Amino acid sequence: MRGAVLYGRGDIRFEQRETPKIIEPTDAVIRMAATCVCGSDLWPYRGLQPLNGPTPMGHEYCGFVEEVGSAVSSVKPGQFVVGSFATSDNTCPHCRYGYQSSCMHREFITRAQAPFLRVPLADGTLVPTPGVPSDGLVPSLLTTSDVLGTGWFAAEAANVKPGSTVVVVGDGAVGLLAVLSAKQMGAGRIIAMSRHESRQKLAREFGATEIVTERGEEGTVRIKDLTKGIGADSVLECVGTQESMMQAIRSARAGGFVSYVGVPHGVELDGTELFFSHVHLHGGPAPVRRYLPELIDLVLNEKINPGRVFDLTLPLDQVAQGYRAMDERRAIKALLRP
Ligand SMILES: [Zn+2]
Ligand SMILES: [Zn+2]
Repeated sequence: MRGAVLYGRGDIRFEQRETPKIIEPTDAVIRMAATCVCGSDLWPYRGLQPLNGPTPMGHEYCGFVEEVGSAVSSVKPGQFVVGSFATSDNTCPHCRYGYQSSCMHREFITRAQAPFLRVPLADGTLVPTPGVPSDGLVPSLLTTSDVLGTGWFAAEAANVKPGSTVVVVGDGAVGLLAVLSAKQMGAGRIIAMSRHESRQKLAREFGATEIVTERGEEGTVRIKDLTKGIGADSVLECVGTQESMMQAIRSARAGGFVSYVGVPHGVELDGTELFFSHVHLHGGPAPVRRYLPELIDLVLNEKINPGRVFDLTLPLDQVAQGYRAMDERRAIKALLRP
């Protein structure tokens, strides 16, 4: 088979790779219905994260079970499944506390931009849908594999409650779906920070009530203005830079909550500022597996339409175009169909 391999800055190739097969008895191999490019794939693509030689890419996936190992009992060939970008046994103490992305046996999925994928710990990682979903629901189901689950975690970790005033920092797919998640959790006001018109539009569609275009220090001032000088109850940081993190912490009220789900790149926090900010901080790689049953249900019942974040669909072999379009911010998120 052929799949995506990153060679270096701006150099993604679609080339021959070994077809995955069952290695451990707990593995499954799935045939991809759809995969996609993630904002986090852009860090190494932009040369901002070192590579150890040519690297197969992709961690968001859904599709049909092709084959299972002898120890797999909860999924069987032919079923449609979605899984998290982080594998989990779903039985260890961390999993039982609901932090499957810190599973003691966790592996990160890294080879999903391909027609077939080996998923370790299939029983604890994959969630089957009740039947084969209609093709139109596949993009939304795919978002549950990472970006929707991550946005959901951002909202939950920031303690979004009915009536909360929420700020979302970042207008990538995760930020936009954090808006959708906050809306689902009953937020009263949702202030989306975005400078891009098409993304502002989608943020409003997902439930944003206000848009702030300023960022950094000016962005913080605007949030304070909009909240009578108090700050927001919940701030969801969905970028991962020093600027976005400080903007998030400074936009929260005393006693407020800041969640951070953007993979940090060069973020350093000042202990004294943190001490006097009085905010709760909670973040990390989202335990997507915890939310999969609920999110799959919301999608299948058409209560939400998170697949709207895909504004570019390409055949898988044109994966390089997907990276380029996202890098140049011409696309929010590129869907890839084998
Ligand atoms: Zn991702
Ligand atoms: Zn575990």
